[in-house]
Amino acid sequence: MREYAVVGGGIGGASIAKYLSHKGRDVVLFEKESYLGGCSSTFSHAGFSYNTGATTLVGYEEGREVKEFFESVGFTPRLVPTEPTITIIQGEKITPRHKELDAFVAALEANYSHAKHAEFWRLVHDLCEEFYKMRGYYYSNKNIFAKARSLMSFSPLFFKFFTYLRTDAKSFIKKFYGDVSDEYMKFLDAQIMIVAQAKSEHVNFLTAALSLGYTFGQNYYVVGGFSKLFEEMMSGVEVRTKSEIKKIVPRQKHYELHLKNEIIECKNLILNSTVYDSGKLFESGEIKVFYRKYEKLNNHQSSFMLYMTIQSDADFAHHYQIIEARNFSHAISNSLFVSVSDKNDNEISPKGYYTITASVHTDVRFWYDKAAYKAKKRELEYCLKELISQKLGIRHEQIVHLFSATPTTFERYIKRAQLGGNAIIMQNILPRLPSNDTPFRGLYHVGDSVYPAQGWIGVMLGVKNLQRLLHV
Ligand SMILES: Cc1cc2nc3c(=O)[nH]c(=O)nc-3n(C[C@H](O)[C@H](O)[C@H](O)COP(=O)(O)OP(=O)(O)OC[C@H]3O[C@@H](n4cnc5c(N)ncnc54)[C@H](O)[C@@H]3O)c2cc1C
Repeated sequence: MREYAVVGGGIGGASIAKYLSHKGRDVVLFEKESYLGGCSSTFSHAGFSYNTGATTLVGYEEGREVKEFFESVGFTPRLVPTEPTITIIQGEKITPRHKELDAFVAALEANYSHAKHAEFWRLVHDLCEEFYKMRGYYYSNKNIFAKARSLMSFSPLFFKFFTYLRTDAKSFIKKFYGDVSDEYMKFLDAQIMIVAQAKSEHVNFLTAALSLGYTFGQNYYVVGGFSKLFEEMMSGVEVRTKSEIKKIVPRQKHYELHLKNEIIECKNLILNSTVYDSGKLFESGEIKVFYRKYEKLNNHQSSFMLYMTIQSDADFAHHYQIIEARNFSHAISNSLFVSVSDKNDNEISPKGYYTITASVHTDVRFWYDKAAYKAKKRELEYCLKELISQKLGIRHEQIVHLFSATPTTFERYIKRAQLGGNAIIMQNILPRLPSNDTPFRGLYHVGDSVYPAQGWIGVMLGVKNLQRLLHV
């Protein structure tokens, strides 16, 4: 009987398994794929390596959650700071998102002149600083009393930021500026979308500020790709890759995990599968019913990915966001996030080559129609390739490899089609969200579909919450 089993080696699953192992607990991690990282992984295709989804690491700074976690398990990742964090291209306008506030405001002013910029972005900057200083809150869903107690722990945060929680960000921004152009609003919305997974009219202003302000923190490029980071971090932890858990049977005091040819028993089970998908692992019973209530959180949002290898000696920024006037076909967004490997990172691409990971938001349901699937994929792939080539100055003959992935591809590999976890919209208030614990003895969750949100910062705050709930 194992003390802890973790199902899934994404950011959340790998991190909590590392933590438990570091604390001397008996733990085994099962990952379906041959590499770790899930949405934040690296895979090979035709001899080239690509980051699957995530390309930026944030929160690795003094007093911040990602650094605190890595230090607590004695791990130092190999990182290169990115500056500017993102280069935003909207029509002919190119705006670097500098880490330094005044430098960014000067660049912004040159492109979207407005007397209120300095005041607005100072507010965004300061809200981020104040938010990440807050400590002591946690969230439990074990039972009604634990939930009520945990919600009380948010009261200092709630009172401090009340003004920014009660209005939607779009109204707040319009009122603050007095007048905002449609173009500038699109500039803001594209950035809010990549963090909050929703646009300004659906999120409160605090969420918008945290989304717009994450580039004021130090962002990093991960050398060798994200799966390398996990490989290095997980040294000393029992990890079983190519091990899909097909079924889970709850017993009175333990869980049975069914693999293809084996059954493993564990006292405590931590699922890194999404709450929308975890119910499928249980054949019947109250746990399956429990997951049904979270199906309504599934917004069917996902990503269409374009992966490219180019041969070039040019210099590129690490990350670009290209904002178009209208949504792309078969997508739900007008913005494309493009990440280019570091020129000196020959672990991910050979010298003289770059690998590119580009993503645009789409809806899972656009890809269900099997008859139209291939044509839609080709159309969007072509459109994104042309746009990237044009904006980054890449000639067609420099593209040596190119392919794309849809939500269906993600489902096939990492067993989830919805990506980005729970959007931080105003309706998804905390008591409605799943926590890292459950009402069932020994059953826990971690990852971007549970408290509090997606990305390195969101998932790591969930890992921290889970550490507290596990009392380890
Ligand atoms: C296109 C895109 C770009 C992004 N960019 C960034 C970024 O730049 N920076 C950032 O911080 N965040 C980014 N994110 C968000 C971030 O990648 C995710 O929020 C985060 O990686 C999710 O981690 P997770 O812990 O939920 O695990 P997941 O990534 O969901 O991984 C879960 C793992 O569990 C495994 N698994 C599932 N079911 C089973 C089973 N039954 N048995 C065994 N294994 C199983 C899967 O194979 C997978 O490896 C991006 C996301 C996407 C989609």
